[in-house]
Amino acid sequence: MKRTGAAPSRTLIVISATAMLVVWPAAALLLLHPPTVGLAVSLFFAGLSLGPCLLGYALARTPRKQLWRRLVMAAGALSVLAFMLVDRINLDLDGFFELLLAGTMGTAIGHTMVTTLLGPVFFGRFGCGWGCWRAMVLEVLPVGRGHGRRRGLWRWTAWLGLAASVVAAVLYGSVWHLQPGGVPGHVRGDSVGAVAAGILVYYVAAIGLALALGDQRAFCKYLCPTGLVLRLTSRRALLHVAADAELCTDCGTCTDVCPMDIPVAERVQAHVRIGVGDCILCQRCVINRPSGALSTTFGPG
Ligand code: SF4
Ligand code: SF4
Repeated sequence: MKRTGAAPSRTLIVISATAMLVVWPAAALLLLHPPTVGLAVSLFFAGLSLGPCLLGYALARTPRKQLWRRLVMAAGALSVLAFMLVDRINLDLDGFFELLLAGTMGTAIGHTMVTTLLGPVFFGRFGCGWGCWRAMVLEVLPVGRGHGRRRGLWRWTAWLGLAASVVAAVLYGSVWHLQPGGVPGHVRGDSVGAVAAGILVYYVAAIGLALALGDQRAFCKYLCPTGLVLRLTSRRALLHVAADAELCTDCGTCTDVCPMDIPVAERVQAHVRIGVGDCILCQRCVINRPSGALSTTFGPG
């Protein structure tokens, strides 16, 4: 098992240098072909995220690391938003359902396969902590991280979110008959307005819930349909936070800083896996580890 530690700077520096050398030239090449302008803009922001911003994270001192992680997330999120708006493609789970109902292939299916169904088996909920366009805004709201996971009916509300996603796709289809559009990967009726309206609905729900519950990540915990699926697909992710229980002093700092209400210290003491579908790999617990017991690891475990 390979341990990458709290600040796997060398690995990150290589990734960021590679991103700048590969992604930006690819974006420039795509700009030479006007039909791929959405992808070119998206790649520009992806290069910004994985290049300079990730490099900043790798080189930053501990107190600044979370700021740089947010910058990585903001640039990554703009990469997704630019692609959605310029190419008029709904990349969210409802866009995935729309294409399924229309019986056509498209970017939303590939995107969901990579980011929500298969990718998390390897990289866990990396996207939730480092690239989500909703979390980009949620993490700068003037509300804290909540005070423990809500129980009772809150355990089931994410299923409502998933149902709403399917209903939205069906309603969209009943208006537009969910037929493949003229452009590959689109359903008839896809427009900038329709995609922007979907984004707005997500923002209203996510920001509203965060403010109502006083918890930045409330939407991720209780309503996000993508988060619900990710909880299942990332349960045994290869990239995960692991602990050396012998180093743990049970100070509880890791539990206190976790935005997903994971009882990190308790799980370390119990010798059980820390994340199990909830960890977004934000690194807060790894960075704030007075005992040095936590690290980010790639491998089974
Ligand atoms: S749970 Fe949903 S809103 Fe939260 S970071 Fe993941 S995809 Fe984004
Ligand atoms: S367990 Fe650590 S890395 Fe995972 S969400 Fe909590 S604080 Fe972030």
